[in-house]
Amino acid sequence: MNTYSRFPIALSHGEGMYVYDEDEKKYLDFLGGIAVNSLGHGHPVLTAEIARQSKELIHCSNLYWTKPMADIAEKIVNEGDMDRVFFCNSGAESIEAALKLSRKFGSETGRQEIITMRCSFHGRTFGAITATGQDHYHTGLGDMLPHIKYADFNDLESVRNAITKDTCAILLEPLQGEGGIHLATEEFLRGVRALCDENDIKLIFDEVQCGCGRLGTYFAYQTFGVVPDALCMAKGIAGGVPMGAMAATEDFARYFSPGDHASTFGGNPLATACANVVFDLLKGGILENVKKNGVYLSERLVELSKAHGCIKDVRGMGYMQGIEVDIPASSVVAEAMNRGLLLGGAGKNVVRFVPALICSKEHIDEAMEILGSALSAIEK
Ligand SMILES: *Cc1c(COP(=O)(O)O)cnc(C)c1O
Repeated sequence: MNTYSRFPIALSHGEGMYVYDEDEKKYLDFLGGIAVNSLGHGHPVLTAEIARQSKELIHCSNLYWTKPMADIAEKIVNEGDMDRVFFCNSGAESIEAALKLSRKFGSETGRQEIITMRCSFHGRTFGAITATGQDHYHTGLGDMLPHIKYADFNDLESVRNAITKDTCAILLEPLQGEGGIHLATEEFLRGVRALCDENDIKLIFDEVQCGCGRLGTYFAYQTFGVVPDALCMAKGIAGGVPMGAMAATEDFARYFSPGDHASTFGGNPLATACANVVFDLLKGGILENVKKNGVYLSERLVELSKAHGCIKDVRGMGYMQGIEVDIPASSVVAEAMNRGLLLGGAGKNVVRFVPALICSKEHIDEAMEILGSALSAIEK
């Protein structure tokens, strides 16, 4: 389908932080499959686990228990404040699960309105795209899902004013990704949490991009110290194998009964075996790497901004950062790609850095050198 404008290269294989195209040209990968390949490419522990698990059982349906599914559910529950997990296959599906749970919760008290933020991104299915607070994603699609409305991110007054007697849930990304790398302030998150508590509203964090270790904590909310009632995960959760999850506290999760929601592939043994590998390796030292080197990456980006006037802002944290430029982000991405560095855009004027969580200081140095030379070439 005519849904993507792809770059004119075909990638064939990768190792660690590098990928190679069909002509064996080497690229340093600072896009990581758009924040998905958390362990880089061809990680030996992950590939061995894929081989092992595929010989045991790839899929068996949610009519039965499997050990990999129970294990990762237990790890997710033990890691933080959530009590139950629903497994699916993508970020959009994890959002749909949270939207449905919110409506189930609201229906007890005759409420169904859900508030989300402007500049957000929550996925492409009809519910998730409605929740996405950017008009251009809605163009030509007709009516959106009713009873969803938008408030301004990092503006507590705007959220307070949006709340009505019909509001049952608030959904937000603690660090907005596609919308341009906007970091929530702790004050804002704490304020929204208090508004939710005062009004019996459920707070949902979309951690699809910023969760699963990207900020240096397994859950993004642990970085801010504000606990939601539910959180959505996907992207990097299983190191590149498609998987999503929606976790919730018991007090929220209890509004689902058997039959209310389901997914054929969700929580299959292959994907959940991979999620166990990712979880264990993150806790085994990779999170520390992200914490330490995330600071280094932002220092290097600030340094770069002093040498290149086209960089107007450096934003984000951990391994989810961006630079705002006063030239098209796509020109920076294209020039860097020609020079062997894969980057992404986030909106028209933000270049995004979401490398694998195994990315080292040396990789950051290499990326900054290539990016610097690409910017110099553009500025000429
Ligand atoms: C990518 C993304 C989604 C959608 O995930 P898919 O797997 O593409 O459906 C939802 N929310 C956020 C914050 C994302 O970055």
